Amino acid sequence: MGDSARACVKTDIETCEIRSFTCPVIAPDAGLLRVESSGVGGSDPEMYRRANTAPCIMGHENVGTIEEVGETAAGRWGVKPGDRVALHEYLPCWHCEWCLKGDFRLCMEADFFNVKDRFNTPRYGTCNANMEPHLWGGFAEYMYLAPNSVIHRIPDDLDARLATLAIPFGNGVQWAVLDGGAGMGKTVLVFGPGQQGLGCALAAKYAGAALVLLVGQTRDRTRLDLGLTLGADHAVDVQQEDLKKKVMALTNGRGVDVVVDTTGDPTGEIAETAISLAAKGAWLNLNGLGQSVPIGEIKKRYLTIRAPRGHSYTAVETALKLIASGRWPLDRVCSHDFGLEDVHTAVMATAGRDIEGAIHVTVSPWKA
Ligand SMILES: [Zn+2]
Repeated sequence: MGDSARACVKTDIETCEIRSFTCPVIAPDAGLLRVESSGVGGSDPEMYRRANTAPCIMGHENVGTIEEVGETAAGRWGVKPGDRVALHEYLPCWHCEWCLKGDFRLCMEADFFNVKDRFNTPRYGTCNANMEPHLWGGFAEYMYLAPNSVIHRIPDDLDARLATLAIPFGNGVQWAVLDGGAGMGKTVLVFGPGQQGLGCALAAKYAGAALVLLVGQTRDRTRLDLGLTLGADHAVDVQQEDLKKKVMALTNGRGVDVVVDTTGDPTGEIAETAISLAAKGAWLNLNGLGQSVPIGEIKKRYLTIRAPRGHSYTAVETALKLIASGRWPLDRVCSHDFGLEDVHTAVMATAGRDIEGAIHVTVSPWKA
């Protein structure tokens, strides 16, 4: 078992170093995870840039093997040492109405947008590493499994790097299908061909969508092409093609039933475009709504608008089943893998800096 763990700790703005931590004594209701692989999330570059989030062991898309588990936790989680699991980043209360529905993302103890102090609230990959027992992130050899962890079992033969797609593809299932209503016969427009956008396209098509359009820019060519192998019917480069013309031509002037913006665009520009391309009665998952919410247009066109907000238990479990099915060439999504010493490069690659062509980047702490 692990007595100590090497971890990459963010110590300052875009700065990190390897530190060693003593592994905690595991209480009956907790556990210890031997991290196999940890995905670099789309939000990690921003987290890495912020001044007020050090020290922190980042890594919130975590997959590993149960190294040690207390008796109570073993019974509650249904796991034993040697079992492989994927984790949510959330550490929820387990008794509020949202937790009881498996929607841990909206629990007041887990909800990033409602907790008083994000940095000092336990959550994998984002909280303060000074908080005991320190090992709160996946960019480390071992990670603490708190009693309120949210755990999914994964098959013994599933590649750990593919399994780290559980969170971004869980977002895809959530935003496009569960929250967006993409299903049989629907027309779906996805902005952003990153790991979450690809997950949206895959989930929407698998749910039965008649038409899936994936939208990006010229620099996204590789991602757009990959999207065509995962479920998108059309990949649109908005710098080369007129998106409105294309959408209206493909939908006989009707517009789309579902829109998901995975880009996090805060300006409202994508939201404005999305609303102009929506069919009557469409469901939209949007980020910035610009200066004002266009209630008149929402009323006139009978639109339903939400903002993309994480993943439910069902979404991640579904994503894991899709990933494990082997149906899609997901090894092409997992474009880059780095060891613990190269976390800086891994986060930079995810931000599109220093390394070109990154899609889903992983950190595998035991990588030689
Ligand atoms: Zn709760």
